[in-house]
Amino acid sequence: MSQKNILIFVTDQLTWRALPCYGNDFVKTPNIDRIAKDSVIFDKCYTPCPLCQPARASFWSGRYPHEIDVLSNGRNWPVSTVSTDVPTLGETFKNAGYDTYHFGKCHDAGALRGFYCEPEEQIKIPDEEEAFPLNFDTYQDIYTTKKCVDFLENHNFEKPLLMVADLVNPHNICGWIGENSGVHNDIETDRPLPPLPENFDFDDIENRPKAIQYICCSHNRQAQTSGWTPRNYQHYLAAYYYYLEFVDKEIGLILDALEKTGKKDDTMIVFMADHGDSMVARGRVTKQVDFYEEVTRVPFIFSGKDIVSQTNRIQGLTSLLDLYPTLCGYAGIEVPDGVRGTDISNVLFGKEIPQKEFVASEWHTEWGFTVSPGRMIRTDEYKYTYYIEDKGEELYDLKNDPYEKVNLAKNPQYKEQLMNMRKLLKKHLDDTHDNFMELEWYADEKWRSHKIGYQNHQGIAAPQEKK
Ligand code: ZN
Repeated sequence: MSQKNILIFVTDQLTWRALPCYGNDFVKTPNIDRIAKDSVIFDKCYTPCPLCQPARASFWSGRYPHEIDVLSNGRNWPVSTVSTDVPTLGETFKNAGYDTYHFGKCHDAGALRGFYCEPEEQIKIPDEEEAFPLNFDTYQDIYTTKKCVDFLENHNFEKPLLMVADLVNPHNICGWIGENSGVHNDIETDRPLPPLPENFDFDDIENRPKAIQYICCSHNRQAQTSGWTPRNYQHYLAAYYYYLEFVDKEIGLILDALEKTGKKDDTMIVFMADHGDSMVARGRVTKQVDFYEEVTRVPFIFSGKDIVSQTNRIQGLTSLLDLYPTLCGYAGIEVPDGVRGTDISNVLFGKEIPQKEFVASEWHTEWGFTVSPGRMIRTDEYKYTYYIEDKGEELYDLKNDPYEKVNLAKNPQYKEQLMNMRKLLKKHLDDTHDNFMELEWYADEKWRSHKIGYQNHQGIAAPQEKK
């Protein structure tokens, strides 16, 4: 009997909207396109948290971040290792007889337990283009790719294989902001400048929760954009696409190595990202605090062995929490108790997607310098968010306002929809034993003091303050 090997590509900070297979006609990703050809593409997949470590700990363990107490990236809010009582994807597959190997970025709070994890290292190369400096994120990807290729060239495939190629780009965009902080002239590039999105202007900012209005004060990358012109933001997008095309090349090398093993036809390939990137929507960069589509909605693609490809993207709601049970379903392994998400492997075999009533996401803090607990509930039609600070609420009619331009939470005409979304949030909190409503927020008054608007920010943000 042929094996059901699985190769998972994880990218970091890649929003679904950036990819050609999700409709972007500006960027070129021929290798991700190779995966997307003859595949099942989920159109509405959401991350359980738009931040690296909580998201990763969450999908590798199949639990929401609050269930495993991984709420931040560390520093002033350190996280403990995920309890050994919590089963993990790697452990489940290892116990089922798989070889389990992980290469690249971990940042998992112990949720990669069960994988052999190749140590993270870097290979430095000179910048290819002056406008797009490379940093440790890219150097790490080069090392990861080399290790993946070496491994595939020498692996014996005696047992079925679960392998993760965990790549960091387009995350190099964060370092690019640091290089282009404040008022500046961009280094010119021959690459065409992408157009600004239709939600670039943040007209509705007065009508958003405080935690959103002051992201510039809680997030140093946002603070660094103070003084940017619209053209600077176009350069940001050009850089973002550059780092995306960079990681696409790495993916191509790993795909080539898989083909050379002769095992490609016995392998399912998964492509995903831990969370998205604001892509200058609302004048925002990277991700922090908010749950807008750009940062919570991610690519989720399956192709390869036994996958019945679909012409159109699958429209039902999915979550990265579905990864764990779906891979179990695909491989014929029992899903351990307590794993969240839905086994949607039937969809991969050409059957209908089970309709979820909603998907959820959560935010606590990035480093603990400001704390803004929030929750998101997304149904087929609406998105609702709630922040503990000032009991801030948002409601978006995603069918009619896909760019989330108008917050309807205070619009009396949407009272009924608001009440329904509040009910779903309560149900979610009860079902997942989430004490969210009792959590405290924290932000020194000075991080809530300037005139509203990211361009009105001056100076540093909370994480840069010298203690
Ligand atoms: Zn500010």
